[in-house]
Formats: sequence, C-alpha cells, structure tokens
Amino acid sequence: MKTTIIGSGVIGLFSAYYLNQQGHEVTIIERSNGEDSCSMGNAGMIVPSHFIPLAVPGMIEKGIKWMFNSESPFYVKPRLNLDLLSWGLKFYQAATKKKVERAMPALRDISLLSKTLYQDLAKTPDFDFAFEEKGLMMLCKTEHSFKEEIEVAQQANELGLKTKILSTKELHEFEPEVKPDVAGAIFYEGDAHLYPNQLVKNLKKHIQNKGVKFLYNTEVTGFDFEKSEIKKTKIKQIVGNTTQNRTANHSELITHNLIIATGSWSPLLADMLNIGLPMQAGKGYSVTYDQNEGKKLNIPSILLEARVAITPMSDNLIRFGGTMEIGGLNDKINMNRVRGIIKAVPNYFPDYQIDIPKKEQVWYGLRPCSPDGLPYIGRTNKYKNLVIASGHAMMGLSLAPATGKLVQEIIDNQKNSIEIDLYKPERYD
Ligand SMILES: Cc1cc2nc3c(=O)[nH]c(=O)nc-3n(C[C@H](O)[C@H](O)[C@H](O)COP(=O)(O)OP(=O)(O)OC[C@H]3O[C@@H](n4cnc5c(N)ncnc54)[C@H](O)[C@@H]3O)c2cc1C
Repeated sequence: MKTTIIGSGVIGLFSAYYLNQQGHEVTIIERSNGEDSCSMGNAGMIVPSHFIPLAVPGMIEKGIKWMFNSESPFYVKPRLNLDLLSWGLKFYQAATKKKVERAMPALRDISLLSKTLYQDLAKTPDFDFAFEEKGLMMLCKTEHSFKEEIEVAQQANELGLKTKILSTKELHEFEPEVKPDVAGAIFYEGDAHLYPNQLVKNLKKHIQNKGVKFLYNTEVTGFDFEKSEIKKTKIKQIVGNTTQNRTANHSELITHNLIIATGSWSPLLADMLNIGLPMQAGKGYSVTYDQNEGKKLNIPSILLEARVAITPMSDNLIRFGGTMEIGGLNDKINMNRVRGIIKAVPNYFPDYQIDIPKKEQVWYGLRPCSPDGLPYIGRTNKYKNLVIASGHAMMGLSLAPATGKLVQEIIDNQKNSIEIDLYKPERYD
C-alpha cells in the first residue's frame, strides 16, 4: 500500500520506520533539505517523568508573572491574533484538576511504550544513537519547589514510576566533579536520553536503505479531495540552489494513505483540509559544548525553577536547552532568553561556568504545542485516508517511536498498543 508522510522530523521518520516494516511503500515529503528540524537540537530526553501536561492549574498565573522578565523560561508574545486567543482559552479550560488526572495515565502509557520501543531499537545492529538509561534528576533550588516536587514524585509512584528523593550525599555521588548546590532533588530512575542529531541521521539512513523514498526541498501546498477521501497531494519542488537559478516545479502525487507529521506547521496543512487543529509554536533554544575534563556532568538534569534541561550526551558533549516562547512561526533568536538559560546553570552548579554563546552557536526549534498538552494522533473523521500525528510539544522525541507504532497500527486497522481516545485529532474541530 502506498503511504505518503509529510514532514521528516522524528514523528514522520518513526511513522515511516514502522510502516516500512509492515511492507508499506512509503514516501516522505520534506520542505527543507532535511538537515535541521525541531527534532535535532532538542535536549534528547526520554521522559516518563513528564506525565503531567503543560496545562495545569496555576500555570497561567505563573506564565503571567514570567512575561515581565525578559530572561524568564516562559513567554507569550501579546498579539491580537484569533488563533492565539482561542488557544489560550482552550489551555485555560484544560488546566483543571479533573482533566489533568485523566491525562496522566495516558501520558504514562505512551511514554512507557515509547521507551520500550527505544530499548528494542538500541539493539539493532549498526544503528547507534547514543541511547543511555541513566535516569533524570529534577534539581530544586528552593525548599518550596522541593516540597512541591516531592508531591509530584508521590503521584509518579502511584502511577508505577520509580522515583527517589536524593540526599545531598547521594546527589554528590551522582555528580562528584561538579557538586550541585540545591535544596533537594528527585531522581526519576526510568528516564533515559540519546543524541537526537545522531538518531535522526541514522534513522533516515536506516529507512532509506530499507526502501523509504525522500522528496526533499518539496513543499506540500494543497490537496484535491472528494467527499471523505484525499485524492491528490499538490507539491512544489524547489530546484536550483542559488536565488538566481532557483525555480519551483509544481506537480501532484496520487494519494492513498496520507500522514500529516509537520510539527508546528500542522495547523496550516490541516486548514487546507478544513480541519481545525489548534496549536501554537513554542520556541526553545539550545547550545551544545564539549565537556571540560575534570569538570564533567554525568546525569541529565532539569533545573526546575529555571526550566533548563542539561543533557550530557554522546561521548563528550553537553547540551543546555530551555525557554518556551509562544510567539508565532518565526526564526528570530532572542539572546536575552538564551542568557537566561546559561545564567541559570551556576545557580545550581556553582563550579560550572559557561560562556554566553555567540548567536551563531545558538540552535532554536519550534515545539508543536496543543492547548491541552496532549498530542494529536489518529485517523480523522472527515477523511478516511488521513492520519494526523503532531502536537507533541516538549515530548516529541520521547514519544516518537510510540507515535510511529500507533500510526502504523491505525493505518493497518490493527488493535492499538495503548488506548488513544484522548489523542483524537479532531477533539477541538
Ligand atoms: C529546546 C528544545 C528542547 C527539547 N527537548 C526535548 C526533549 O528532551 N525530549 C523530547 O521528547 N522532546 C524535546 N523537545 C521537543 C521535540 O523536539 C519536538 O516535540 C519534536 O522534535 C517534534 O517533532 P515533529 O516531527 O513533530 O516536528 P519537526 O521536527 O518540526 O518536523 C516537522 C517537519 O515538517 C516539515 N514541514 C512543515 N510544513 C511542511 C510542508 N508544507 N511540506 C513539507 N514539509 C513540511 C518541516 O520542515 C519539518 O522538517 C524539545 C524542543 C526544543 C525546542
């Protein structure tokens, strides 16, 4: 069966991986040259620990306070935009105790499925992506947030996730070369991490060798549909590499199964099909350095109050990532926020000093954020041959194998590995 996937981020790639295994003839259409996406410069964390969605009671009040600090980890650019206002209202409506409690086991299940699939994948010969199961430390600078995090850890335990409240001695044993100075820490034993750039590169190579076709520099511009079926996908291929000789070839592909996996741009494609897919792009930044001999960090950590992720990855690299700027689809780098990330590090690790990077060293990515913090995964009611797989916000890397597997099961009309009711793509349409 011919299947077309739009988008070559981790979600598109893992969908292709599982569909190809089941004998589908897969083509991936990608607007860029495939050398960068949100799926590459991220923090590489696989996070069953993140079982609470972003939309929780109290988050809006916190967000409003953060908006007045240019180095804060969260920012909504105020603008008179109907999509943003409607997204904000839906976020507010999702941030209730009842809805959060309903979402938690669903997020746990998809996270654990994904981690198991990563474990299997890591055993594949000649397919290395620096997968490590070292857990994750939530570092709390203040007693107040430490207390709150102990309560979160209790909820995690009730869901069957293993946590440990670390004593200062244990914390210093984890990081003997750069001792943290914090009020306390929670250790999530079941978290893992990998090197996303290597994952994406090797996953592409792997599926290409298995016969998956890639159309790079090719943008999907529209669809032909009849009643409840998409018949053709319209594409624009950019030919030539300089502005002088660049031209666009317009053509169309016959469409059997179609998967929209275009991250933050998914609402634009859904809109072409008259489907409402509320989503905002949440920009985040990262910088990657070589680790210093004698001053190395070992275990991935989150600096809780600063919302900064630190991942020692691959052999000797360390990546610092953070911020969530809800400011539309744009590629502007705000160095104040990058400074906020870097300046937070010595607050938690006083002996770890890093220079503020130059703008050219900063990577940014746009997280596809749904208002309720849950991904959109499923077949649509409007079109029988359309599946949407998007909206994974800050967990796309973590949830990508499970999403890919679910996409394959949906396309093949198989029983899903987990319950996916809460992930319906048209839940707001
Ligand atoms: C700073 C930062 C840190 C993060 N850390 C983590 C982490 O530790 N763990 C984790 O799980 N997640 C993390 N994330 C989130 C994660 O990176 C994203 O959720 C994930 O990459 C989204 O993947 P995607 O495939 O949906 O989208 P993308 O990677 O954005 O891919 C979508 C692709 O679709 C293409 N496209 C768009 N429109 C069209 C079109 N019309 N035609 C053709 N192609 C099109 C785009 O060019 C793009 O390549 C982080 C994100 C950031 C920014």
